[in-house]
Amino acid sequence: MAEVDFYLSDEQRELQRALREFVAKEIEPIAAQCDEEERFPRELFARLGELGYLGLGFPESVGGAGGSRLDYAILCEELAYGSAGIALGIYVHMALACSALEAFGSDALKHSVLPDALRGRRIGAWAFAEAGAGSDAGSIATRALRDGDEWVLDGSKLFITNGPIADFLVVVASTAPERGLKGLSLFLVECDRPGFRVESSLSKLGVRASEMGELVFEGCRIPADHLLGRESGGFLDSLATLTLGRIASAAFAIGVARAAYDATVEHAKNRVQFGQPIGSFQAVRFGIADMAVQIEAARLLCHRAAIAADRGLDHGREASIAKLHATETCTRVVERALHYHGAVGFMSDSPIARYYRDCKVFELGEGSSELQRNMIARDIGL
Ligand SMILES: Cc1cc2nc3c(=O)[nH]c(=O)nc-3n(C[C@H](O)[C@H](O)[C@H](O)COP(=O)(O)OP(=O)(O)OC[C@H]3O[C@@H](n4cnc5c(N)ncnc54)[C@H](O)[C@@H]3O)c2cc1C
Repeated sequence: MAEVDFYLSDEQRELQRALREFVAKEIEPIAAQCDEEERFPRELFARLGELGYLGLGFPESVGGAGGSRLDYAILCEELAYGSAGIALGIYVHMALACSALEAFGSDALKHSVLPDALRGRRIGAWAFAEAGAGSDAGSIATRALRDGDEWVLDGSKLFITNGPIADFLVVVASTAPERGLKGLSLFLVECDRPGFRVESSLSKLGVRASEMGELVFEGCRIPADHLLGRESGGFLDSLATLTLGRIASAAFAIGVARAAYDATVEHAKNRVQFGQPIGSFQAVRFGIADMAVQIEAARLLCHRAAIAADRGLDHGREASIAKLHATETCTRVVERALHYHGAVGFMSDSPIARYYRDCKVFELGEGSSELQRNMIARDIGL
């Protein structure tokens, strides 16, 4: 797709070019197999770390590679183009676990974990959701009690990406249950701590090249300085910072939509019916033209939110708008892509079938579409 990407610097164009080459060479060839085996490729993760991609957007003082939110959005789109599942595992590590640690951890904690994490030698997970708490964070039941110089965690977490393979977790737990949302705090938990265990691995419909699990904390003790940010204030603080996750979700959705679109353009040129390529039928041409428009509009919204973040502007509304539009666009585009592929797209080993299984998750995670609409409506003053 030709992009009038006038706002990208030469360095960002080069980053995009290098990533496209990397994704074509290293991710696309393994995407189907990792999906089939429900396996996150740790060797690829390590390679991304060695090349400095995992450190993108993180300060050099903690082992990062520097760079902007816009650089990060470019990375997310390109990774998801190759494999939404692999991209999801990387996203949870970078945008949630490492970001929260970088934003709220003490200097000592950051320096002990981040250099290895950003080099791809340790992988993180974000442990927020529970059986009784999905959209409603105020229902989180995992407790953290202070005991001398330690915190003691008890509870369980469900649907945690990277959970079964993680080296460290950022856990959202309640330090003041009577205060609901305002009683939540963030903690860093290394996965070799006694009292922590992976209860089970979970099998998913899509994004299967990332691994997911249920995690249990039973009297799991961590040092006092593993509290990230303020006690009982960390979660609300973190929501402001973790809007990065919404920009990343938007970029992922655009990557998957673009992959489906590119495959559809090729198919429409090559599939001949009634003596002509199906791309010459107006119904198909119009549908593919609409895909292009929707993807480019979604990318502009996503990059607008990233640029606002880079300029230090308040960008919560922009991130919600970008996330909502891009994720719903992705589902629409992938559905049309499958339609124009006909039966060949419906076969289980077709990449289009994989995109179809993958796309829906973006509308659910990082605050579902309804939650984004609620935030936008609140910002409008309703
Ligand atoms: C592939 C995948 C990976 C995940 N990875 C992680 C992870 O790494 N870490 C983690 O902590 N969690 C993870 N999750 C869980 C994710 O955070 C939750 O799915 C998400 O928070 C939504 O919660 P829920 O699924 O329980 O849905 P629910 O909250 O039960 O929502 C169900 C439906 O009700 C709607 N709804 C809920 N509240 C409202 C409202 N106020 N107004 C209108 N509609 C509403 C929702 O939009 C949705 O359509 C993952 C989930 C998936 C599918």
